[in-house]
Amino acid sequence: MQTYDFVIIGSGVSGGRMAYELTASGAKCLLLEAGREFSATTFPAHEIDYSTQMFWGGGLEISTDGNLGFLRARCLGGTSIVNQALLDRFDDVAWDDWRHRSGVSYFNKTDMEASYQAIEAKVKISEIPRSQYNRNAQTFTKACEHLGYEWKKLKRAQGECALDKGSDCIVCLGGCPRDSKQSSLVTTIRWAREKGLRVESEFEVHHLSDAGDKVHVYGRQRGAETEVVGRRVVLAAGAMGNTAILLRSGYQKELPALGHGFACHPQYMTYAMFDEPIDAHKGAFQAVASQDPRMRKQGFKLENVYAPPIGTAMLMPGFGPNHQRLMRKYRFYASMEVAVRDEPTGVIRVTRGDKLVVDKQLTAQDQDRTERGLKLVSELFHAAGASEIVSCTQAFGLHLMGGCSIGVDARKAVVSPDFRVFGHRNLIAADSSIFPEAPGINPSFTIMALSHRAAREVLSS
Ligand SMILES: Cc1cc2nc3c(=O)[nH]c(=O)nc-3n(C[C@H](O)[C@H](O)[C@H](O)COP(=O)(O)OP(=O)(O)OC[C@H]3O[C@@H](n4cnc5c(N)ncnc54)[C@H](O)[C@@H]3O)c2cc1C
Repeated sequence: MQTYDFVIIGSGVSGGRMAYELTASGAKCLLLEAGREFSATTFPAHEIDYSTQMFWGGGLEISTDGNLGFLRARCLGGTSIVNQALLDRFDDVAWDDWRHRSGVSYFNKTDMEASYQAIEAKVKISEIPRSQYNRNAQTFTKACEHLGYEWKKLKRAQGECALDKGSDCIVCLGGCPRDSKQSSLVTTIRWAREKGLRVESEFEVHHLSDAGDKVHVYGRQRGAETEVVGRRVVLAAGAMGNTAILLRSGYQKELPALGHGFACHPQYMTYAMFDEPIDAHKGAFQAVASQDPRMRKQGFKLENVYAPPIGTAMLMPGFGPNHQRLMRKYRFYASMEVAVRDEPTGVIRVTRGDKLVVDKQLTAQDQDRTERGLKLVSELFHAAGASEIVSCTQAFGLHLMGGCSIGVDARKAVVSPDFRVFGHRNLIAADSSIFPEAPGINPSFTIMALSHRAAREVLSS
C-alpha cells in the first residue's frame, strides 16, 4: 500500500489550502472528500436538488433540542462551494478574546498579517459597486443611514460575476455556474492538482489509527471499505467532521476537551414587506453588512441576505392560507439577518449507534443578544417604510466552529499552538474545528490564514 506524505481529510476552505501549500512544497499528498465532485456545468440547478445532493443530512442537520439548524456542505470544495465568499479579517476584539481564552500568542493582527496577505495575493477579491446594489441592499443602506448606523461594503472572493448582464448571485448558494466564486475547487484544489495532488471524492473517513510513524485512515468509498496510509494526516473535515473522526478513533479519554466548545453564530432572518417589489433574489446578493461599533459591543451583526423559495418557505411562520399569503409576497420582501456571537457551550458527540449529534442550547447572553438584534432590525425596517414585518423563529448555524479547539493546555484544548493534536504529532488541524470561540466575524478568511500558517509550521518542523 502506498504511503503518502500527507493525507488530507476534507476539501473545504482549510483542506484545499493545506493541500495546495503542502503539494506545492513537493510533498506527495492525497485529498479525501466524503461528497461528490461537481463543476460549474454540473452543479444541480434547483434548490431542492443542490440541498439534497450537496449538503450533509440531505440539506439540514438539527441540534438535539431542535432549536438550531446547521448547514454544512458535502462535496469537493466543501462549504466554499455554497458560501457567500465574504472575506473579513478579524479585528482586535476577536484576536484579543482568542488569545485570552486559548493562550496562543500569535493570535494578534501583526502575527497573522503575512498569512492574510498570502491569501489575498492569489485569490480574486472585489466589492460590489453601489450602482449594482439590488433593492434589498439599497433598503439596508437607506435604513442604516436613516437611523445613523454604520455599514460597509463586503469584500467578496469573486472574479467576473457579469451582474450587468443579469446574473443572479443567489444561484451560487448551489455552486457558482460561472467559476467566478473563488471556491477551493477552482483555486487551491485546482492549483494543487496541477502540481500532482491526488483527489479521492465520495470517500467518507470513519476513524484513524496513529501508530508510530504512520497513520492509517479507514472509511468507505462508494460503499466499499477502504484504507489509506499517510506519514501525517491533516484533519480538515470541519467542526463536526473532525470531532466525529477523533471520537470514533477513541481519543476521548486522552483529550477531555474533544467535542466541547462548539459555537455557530446563530442567524435569524427577518422579512419586511414593502408595497413595491424588492426582488431581493435578483442581482448582487449580499453586497453590504453592518459595521457599527455599538452592534459589535452588543455581540451581534446584521447581514443583508435573502433566501431562495424553499428556504423562505421553511422560515416563514404559520400554515395553510396564512403561509400562502406570506409566500405570495416573495418578490415584495427585503430581509436582514441577525448573526449572534454566541458562547461556545455546544457539545458534539457520537452516540452508541454511531450517530453524530450536537447539543447546543442558547445561553441567556445569546438570547439577550438575539433580542437586541431583532429589535434593531425591526426599527430599521420601519424606518425604511416596511408595511409588515415577519420575524422567523428558527435559527440556523452556518459558521460551525470548535470541537477540537486550539490552546496551550491539553486539559482544555485538543490542538496545540503548533497545530498538532496533543500527544499526536502526526495529526494536524487548522480548520474551523480549532476555533477556541466564536469571533462574531465571518470565519473563512481566518481559516485560510490559519491553514497557511499551519502548513508553514508543519513543513518547517
Ligand atoms: C450558506 C453558507 C454561507 C456562508 N457564507 C460565508 C461567507 O460568506 N464568509 C465566510 O467567511 N463564511 C461563510 N460561511 C461559513 C464558511 O463557509 C465555513 O465556516 C467554512 O467553509 C469552514 O471551512 P472548513 O474548511 O473548516 O470546513 P468545510 O469548508 O465545511 O469543509 C469540510 C469538508 O470536509 C468534508 N468532510 C466532513 N467529514 C468528512 C469525513 N468523515 N470524511 C471525508 N470528508 C469529510 C465535508 O464534506 C467538507 O467538504 C458560510 C456557510 C454557509 C453554510
